[in-house]
Amino acid sequence: MEKSVVLGIDIGGTNTIYGFVTRGGTIVFHDEIPTNGSKPISDLIERIGDKIKEFFSKNREYSLNGIGIGAPNGNHYTGMIQSPPNLSWGCIDIVSLFKEKMHCETLLTNDANAAALGEKSFGLAKHMDDFVVVTLGTGLGSGIFSSGKLLYGHDGFAGEMGHISIDFNGRLCNCGNRGCLEAYVSATGIKNTIQKLLEKDPQNTLLQTLCKDNIDGFLLDKSYDKGNETAIKIYHYTGEKLGQGLALLANLLSPEAFIFYGGFSNAGERIFASARKSMKHNLINSSEKDIKLIQSGLAKGQAGILGAASLIWTK
Ligand SMILES: [Zn+2]
Repeated sequence: MEKSVVLGIDIGGTNTIYGFVTRGGTIVFHDEIPTNGSKPISDLIERIGDKIKEFFSKNREYSLNGIGIGAPNGNHYTGMIQSPPNLSWGCIDIVSLFKEKMHCETLLTNDANAAALGEKSFGLAKHMDDFVVVTLGTGLGSGIFSSGKLLYGHDGFAGEMGHISIDFNGRLCNCGNRGCLEAYVSATGIKNTIQKLLEKDPQNTLLQTLCKDNIDGFLLDKSYDKGNETAIKIYHYTGEKLGQGLALLANLLSPEAFIFYGGFSNAGERIFASARKSMKHNLINSSEKDIKLIQSGLAKGQAGILGAASLIWTK
């Protein structure tokens, strides 16, 4: 008997992860290819097309039921990716391009929404109607479920939690505003914090090492666990800022949980402990609320492809 699968694609700034997903959420096969964002989008679509052909020639019992895509700045309503950061594509109608190439139904959403859909369909949020998935990577993204539905807003761009301001006189964000949560709580934000600490304490060897390159989250976690005061200071500061942002959103949406996904979410309780405290401090009716801060249970890269695939499966 022919078995149906959906191709879930998670387009990232550096790599694109794809996987063939059954209705029950089993990933039959998944792999990762470079996005090559400096080349035109046709290059990526061509390579994914080859991977699709390869899969179905080896697995003749399966058929393709559709394609779901999660991408930075992906708009569910228009099917367009609009000037994604770190990719040179400008505005592209990716849904039409895939439909032309693969002749199957194709749906798009942004990467954080895809992660939220993945949690709702196959992860920790299966039984939740109100929750927020926060993706912690180079930036800070969020996918919001409210009353059982993903929140898209009027134009499809709802849920930019990374750009709510926690300090109007604070750090300048890439978006041009000041004090955005992302300017403190993301790899970019933490690097900024480390640079500021290094200016005050130039002899600090941990800060010197952390400052060199991309932030090494593993080194920071290890130093924190050994009781290194600087690492503790960095995470407590980041957690405090995160808690302020969570409180703003919680006052507005009253979610059951915030679920964290992506690179820096591995810090887990090292950040959550101070975030929880600061969130409580900034919440109205805080004694009545017990909002959970939890780490995603889905493996690295999987929430994105599962969520993208569920665009088609739950349609
Ligand atoms: Zn911003």
